[in-house]
Amino acid sequence: MVRYVYEFAEGGRDMADLLGGKGANLAEMTRMGLPVPPGFTVTTEACRAFLATGSEPDGLSREISDHLTALEQASGRRLGQPDDPLLLSVRSGARFSMPGMMETILDIGLNDDSVLGLAKASGNERFAWDAYRRLVQMFGSTVMGVDSALFENVMARLKEASGAGDDLGLDAADLAGLVEAYKDLIRQETGDYFPQSPAGQLRRAVLAVFESWNGERARLYRHREHIPDHLGTAVNVQTMVFGNRGPDSGSGVAFTRDPATGRPGLYGDYLSNAQGEDVVAGIRNTVPLTDLEHLDPPSYTQLRDHLRTLETHYRDLCDIEFTIERGTLWMLQTRVGKRTAEAAFAIAAELVDEGLITSDEALARVSGDGLARLMFPRFDTSAVGQALARGIPASPGAAVGAAVFDSAAAVRRAAAGEKVVLVRQETTPDDLPGMVAAQAVLTSRGGKTSHAAVVARGMGKVCVCGAEEMTVDTQGRRFTVGATTVEEGTVISVDGSEGAVYPGAAPLVDSAVMRYFESGGQGERSPGLVDAVARAMQQADGVRRLGVRANADTPEDAARARRFGAEGIGLCRTEHMFLGDRRQLVEAMILAGSDADRERALDALLPLQRQDFIGILEAMDGLPVTIRLLDPPLHEFLPDRTELAVRLAAAEAHGTPTSAHDAELLDAVNRMHEENPMLGLRGVRLGLVAPGLVAMQVRAIAEAVVERKRAGGDPRAEIMVPLIDTVEELRIVREEVEQVLAEVSKASGVPVECPVGTMIELPRAALTAGRIAEEAEFFSFGTNDLTQTTWGFSRDDVEAAFFSAYLDKGIFKVSPFETIDREGVGRLVQIAVAEGRAARPDLKIGVCGEHGGDPDSVHFFHGAGLDYVSCSPFRVPVARLEAGRAAL
Ligand code: ADP
Ligand code: MG
Ligand code: MG
Repeated sequence: MVRYVYEFAEGGRDMADLLGGKGANLAEMTRMGLPVPPGFTVTTEACRAFLATGSEPDGLSREISDHLTALEQASGRRLGQPDDPLLLSVRSGARFSMPGMMETILDIGLNDDSVLGLAKASGNERFAWDAYRRLVQMFGSTVMGVDSALFENVMARLKEASGAGDDLGLDAADLAGLVEAYKDLIRQETGDYFPQSPAGQLRRAVLAVFESWNGERARLYRHREHIPDHLGTAVNVQTMVFGNRGPDSGSGVAFTRDPATGRPGLYGDYLSNAQGEDVVAGIRNTVPLTDLEHLDPPSYTQLRDHLRTLETHYRDLCDIEFTIERGTLWMLQTRVGKRTAEAAFAIAAELVDEGLITSDEALARVSGDGLARLMFPRFDTSAVGQALARGIPASPGAAVGAAVFDSAAAVRRAAAGEKVVLVRQETTPDDLPGMVAAQAVLTSRGGKTSHAAVVARGMGKVCVCGAEEMTVDTQGRRFTVGATTVEEGTVISVDGSEGAVYPGAAPLVDSAVMRYFESGGQGERSPGLVDAVARAMQQADGVRRLGVRANADTPEDAARARRFGAEGIGLCRTEHMFLGDRRQLVEAMILAGSDADRERALDALLPLQRQDFIGILEAMDGLPVTIRLLDPPLHEFLPDRTELAVRLAAAEAHGTPTSAHDAELLDAVNRMHEENPMLGLRGVRLGLVAPGLVAMQVRAIAEAVVERKRAGGDPRAEIMVPLIDTVEELRIVREEVEQVLAEVSKASGVPVECPVGTMIELPRAALTAGRIAEEAEFFSFGTNDLTQTTWGFSRDDVEAAFFSAYLDKGIFKVSPFETIDREGVGRLVQIAVAEGRAARPDLKIGVCGEHGGDPDSVHFFHGAGLDYVSCSPFRVPVARLEAGRAAL
């Protein structure tokens, strides 16, 4: 037979699934001997059963009344007893804390009779009527569905009429009148009377708490916090204690240490002569908890002792709610407290020092997301004013700069030493130079995985995207929000952690953690936060099995990655090396009419590429550098088709002679136009049809290796072929690669051996990994493309189109471009790992792309048995930390 009700003394903190977090912790405190008002918990199972059928499960009301009887016997009072009533609170409490999202009803058991009994028994008429008006108000809004604003209006009118400044200014007669006014309001709004039967109140309150699980607020909160909808809430029925019985009573909240900084010592707020709800509601001003030491020394000492007991017992920061009733302290709630990233690191380190937890446990209590937040400079939030606009906080941190509206302006002004914010409707790969030059990127369209967001995160650049109230006028070089216009050159501040834009230069505070990483972990480790971070990193590096490499295309990025602890480069993209001034040369190669023309263009590119590789190999000396052969469709290096056509048409219309070059270009652009370039001529396909391209790139790599070796270095280049579908493609390219390597070795007299491997980024490659491993010395999962091709949608197109709808409908809990889709894409990874290793046991396997720096994905890759993850330099510390946590 199922049981739906547990007395507090029967539960414990490990029963949170059944009793909810609040119930489990009330039980735990009860068993620890702390002063908890007695009560019982109705299980989440009862809630699920009620919500599924719409009626109370069999036996529930029986169990509740049995437990009520026990409670009444223990207290010597009956619920609603007319002379000295037992009163109850009915409190929601789900498995995961959903602060303020569901309902709680206090003072159950009061009615027109028992309010008089309470007044007599307590000797305090005002208090009794205050409790009653609270019940009628809470019951009326929560259980009977009357808009709570209507109660507040009645209250406000009464205060005005009686000249009371705050609720303490209302006397017993005022409050008795208020109860009548509230009851009238309920009658008017619902056609029903406020129920006078205490047992009826209790029953309806419990069911209302069940129903509040499906309230709109609660649902929204769950979606945002990824809390499953099916869990249901428990209901705690508890004896009331009163903080509103006079100046020797009060309520407060407390933390065992400061949840913002982690500093030890009592921390919290106290409100005398008040119920707990008044503290949170901010009706009157609270005083710091430390004032309680003077107001009520014995209670303060007890509270301090209880907090210490709790922290030692839970071995973590706890937060609590307490009430003092005429000098008696009661504990009403506790839980392991939420904290900032800074406090998480600081507390973890301190608890190790205090001998309460091990270093492994400390590592489990910090997170990569938290670390990422600590690495960015921030705005001094106490000093910023009203936000100009709000968008999606896509890449955290704070940046100040002059608004600019195109990439060229960003580059120009930045070169002149100005700090700029690139403002666009949305960004495209063409905006890359401007994004690099800017302090921050701000867009009016697109979500967390839009181009702007992804690229900015990769670069560790601040980004707010999808700030929809902004109208960006690129032509006019301004944006507007309502009546405010921001012209080019106007300084704005972008907060990528909060998703806010401020006018002017908001004051910044530097991140000590970033300075620590920038110094290669060698910098000053002043006690406190930086030291705590350093200790977590050391622990993570000690336990992790996954290697961590970086995605880096320049010597500067490579050097930074190394300072941040990267153990090599997992992805060196070569396409960025084809942009800028070199675009001309690429264009010449594409347009080449003859073999000789093409060779000339390739010959001109060769030394430039070689120089790129020399710099990167030098920065990563002694560590592996995986260089990917050219990947994107060639036409990305040509001018835009429409623009070119318009230019030609305009020239013709004006009768000016059309440039032969332009005509030729348009021809090429038309020839190479693809409806679906993502699935078109790119990756290895390009190498197989563009003669000389692979040979040129491999020669540049090989010659760079030779040069580094001659300089006494230890270059470890690895050559990676992108977008393989079948082993045949790899076999052909590999032969060409080996031939060039042999030629360069022979010509230079310096042996050049580079492992040749492939990206696994198409489902077919993953499914035939056993075959592909015959030709590949390593695999690197390109999870961005693998996600696109497995799901069959293009990241660049679908984001704005339907992702937010999918997230709302719960089809995705999180975008599969942000966190790896374990079920689908992850399964392909697992198949490829198993079959690849079966064919070649020493196959080295890594992952490159956004997911390599995503905490949840890192845990998956650890479990899948990969050798390393590779991510942007700024994510390297995050990946190290999470790889360590995954190994715990
Ligand atoms: P929430 O989860 O929203 O914090 P709670 O169940 O903790 O809701 O209750 C809201 C307020 O009611 C709390 O501030 C608490 O202090 C007060 N409260 C709850 N139960 C009691 C009780 N038995 N006696 C006195 N006050 C109570
Ligand atoms: Mg609470
Ligand atoms: Mg790819």
